[in-house]
Amino acid sequence: MIVTFPRIDAKAYTNLLNKIAAGGRVMCQYCGNENVALGDTWVCAYCENANYASILAIKLRDAELVKSLNLVNDYLSESDFDSALAEYEKILDSNDEPGFHYRYAQLIIQYSNYEVASIRYDRPGFMEENALHRELSGTLDSRAKMILSKTAVACEIAFRNGNKDPFVLHAYFMSNLKLKNLKTAKRASEMTAMYSKPLQEYQQMALAAELGDATATATTADSQIKKVFSPINAFYYLTWSLVRAKRLEDAKVFITKLSGYIPNSSVKALEKEITNAMQVA
Ligand SMILES: [Zn+2]
Repeated sequence: MIVTFPRIDAKAYTNLLNKIAAGGRVMCQYCGNENVALGDTWVCAYCENANYASILAIKLRDAELVKSLNLVNDYLSESDFDSALAEYEKILDSNDEPGFHYRYAQLIIQYSNYEVASIRYDRPGFMEENALHRELSGTLDSRAKMILSKTAVACEIAFRNGNKDPFVLHAYFMSNLKLKNLKTAKRASEMTAMYSKPLQEYQQMALAAELGDATATATTADSQIKKVFSPINAFYYLTWSLVRAKRLEDAKVFITKLSGYIPNSSVKALEKEITNAMQVA
């Protein structure tokens, strides 16, 4: 069967996105960011960890966790990564779920990206300073990879010991995806299918994007939007696909909306990419 790019009516989809985004707000227990509340299971638009709304209600009575997550986000907004990591390490002391370790690795990757972005060629004496940024970024990348590998192993052990929580499988999937162990990520996704079909479809969407397959990404994103399963994230993936399919006008409409709803770093980067592509076109 030949899979074709889904027909996307930008106006109808924008209306749908507005309706979805008007929903209530919930906080992700792993990163502390606000998400649109839809259904009992959802994937965070910031850290891509899977959350249960019902468990969340209990978790968020944990005032210490909420306080720490807010503090981490305050440090991040000031680009104070050392303090953010130190605060998140306190969270890890009392929260051992793989999703927390996955988020911790993400923070280290963000720190590394920040260091790379700090490399400048227009300052006097830049050579030495740039070398320091590059060295720190390399050290951080290795550390993040080590944590992702450890998280993947912990998920495997938990699963083998009988923990069949699809969220453990999701953390297993995401860790392998970030490590570019795509074969293992695919296997994790097949295992997830036995416990949560919508979550598996989400993983297929992320995997297709990682492989650069715009049509497969758009098809799964469209299906996720129609199922209202983490539709905000699905809109991001759909927009990403539209850029690859050179449908910049439609992509621009969606990204403008998305940057109002979830101003995360991926959305900002995609928005910049669309603006640049439109200037060239
Ligand atoms: Zn999150």
